[in-house]
Amino acid sequence: MRKPLVMGNWKLNGSKAMALDLVTGLKKELTGVDGCDVAIAPPVVYLDYVQKLLADSNIILGAQNVDTHLSGAYTGDISAQMLKEVGATHIIIGHSERRTYHKECDKFIAQKFAILKENGLTPVLCIGETEAENEAGQTQAVCAKQIDAVIDLLGVKAFNNAVIAYEPIWAIGTGKSATPAQAQAIHKFIRDHIAKLDGDVAKQVIIQYGGSVNDKNAAELFTQPDIDGALVGGASLKADAFAVIVKAA
Ligand code: PGA
Repeated sequence: MRKPLVMGNWKLNGSKAMALDLVTGLKKELTGVDGCDVAIAPPVVYLDYVQKLLADSNIILGAQNVDTHLSGAYTGDISAQMLKEVGATHIIIGHSERRTYHKECDKFIAQKFAILKENGLTPVLCIGETEAENEAGQTQAVCAKQIDAVIDLLGVKAFNNAVIAYEPIWAIGTGKSATPAQAQAIHKFIRDHIAKLDGDVAKQVIIQYGGSVNDKNAAELFTQPDIDGALVGGASLKADAFAVIVKAA
């Protein structure tokens, strides 16, 4: 049995005041919830602050990115060990916004996956197709290629204790979520793709859906057998909406 994971990706939003408000609200709303793992990924400068706010809760601390080096002359970079030291365990990599705005390619993202695993952190690997790729019927091929980059570098067992977030790019921040049936079909494809190499790894890997998940559409998405929670952007910035999504999982 896989335990779903609902993770809030704050992106480039927030302040100390907002973090205090949101975390206080979440702790209240989520008291006693234990059927689902919950994580939040604030901007990196607030990790230490949020970690202290979360000290007496089960909410997992995550981060939105990691760099591929552990130390040295890499101005502006943040290492896996630094994230670990401030208590972040679930690290988003390969988000489409980083693939697009920072030109991150599959091979580079696979290296990030590697450095996280080497340091005992949990990668949350984002994959997903553009609208044009979707319309051209390339969704499966794109997702397979993004996953295979990790398998080629590290082998399929790297997906033990890892998370995949399927996020169709056309659904991110657009209000236009994939339908539960659409999402289930590609989640099943992803799990089967991994199962071709290792059935046990496929059975345990968490596959989240992301892209315009909100308090209205979450419950139906979560009825699907291969959807194990969600990666949530916009709706993770409001404690009440995020709590509804968590409870739906
Ligand atoms: P959204 O973002 O929920 O605002 O669509 C999801 C994501 O980018 O992770």
